[in-house]
Amino acid sequence: MSNTLKGKIALITGGSRGIGAATARQLASEGATVVISYSNSEGQANDVVAAIEASGGKAVALKADQANAAEVKALIADVVKRYGKLDILVNNAGVFETGTVAETVDDAGFDRQLRVNYEAVVTAIREASRVMGDGGRIISVSSALALRSTWPGVADYSATKRAIEGYTKGVARDLGAKGITVNAIGAGSTNTEMNPDTSPFAEAQAAATALGRFGRPEEIASVIGFIASPAASFVTGAIIPVDGGYSA
Ligand code: NAP
Repeated sequence: MSNTLKGKIALITGGSRGIGAATARQLASEGATVVISYSNSEGQANDVVAAIEASGGKAVALKADQANAAEVKALIADVVKRYGKLDILVNNAGVFETGTVAETVDDAGFDRQLRVNYEAVVTAIREASRVMGDGGRIISVSSALALRSTWPGVADYSATKRAIEGYTKGVARDLGAKGITVNAIGAGSTNTEMNPDTSPFAEAQAAATALGRFGRPEEIASVIGFIASPAASFVTGAIIPVDGGYSA
């Protein structure tokens, strides 16, 4: 364990598995106390907490549905009540629903992606920005699909991620004077429950990268760990591609 983030309080939304769980392990290994949120996967969230504690780290799991703005606000308030502050916010929770515009997309699916992938990020950033101080870090997990859709059926998802990226740049300007950095990660195809490397679409995704393969959650988390660290103090308003060269 290194001490880069010793004394820091970090909230990772959707930390029960995949990229969020790897990020929780990464930040905890650097000394942060981590709070992970989940909506359904209580058992997996508790397993992440147990693994971090077994490695000598500090973690807690809290239930909060990102589709519900009141629960997102209560989550941030709960973190501040428990620890007196919030230093690092990682907006990771997301849903990926495919469907072509003319055939399969319905209002409910559109609404769910908009709420979880974008509106919750806005709400969390707004609430966090009111309690964060100098040196605060806001990092949102966007997608390489924000810039280039590549396949049919991802328009809604891509648009929610592109919205995050626009918001990231604007808020970086808003919060620069407070010493808070705001960045997004343009994550490429990563082997998780959302996007397993065994799916029928995996081969095409791997072929679309320069490295010819999927990423591992830890390969996204390590970059988030850097952006969260004091070493990244001059990085803000950036969309950082971590995509194996998909966008090259
Ligand atoms: P994942 O394995 O499906 O994990 C998603 C996480 O988000 C889970 O912890 C889940 O917890 C949580 N979550 C989903 N809906 C939620 C809600 N309504 N409220 C609270 N938490 C919720 O996905 P992942 O691949 O790790 O994705 C993490 C982020 O990376 C997402 O924003 C995704 O869009 C982005 N991303 C992924 C890839 C990829 O190829 N995997 C590529 C680019 C970007 P519960 O089960 O408890 O709901």
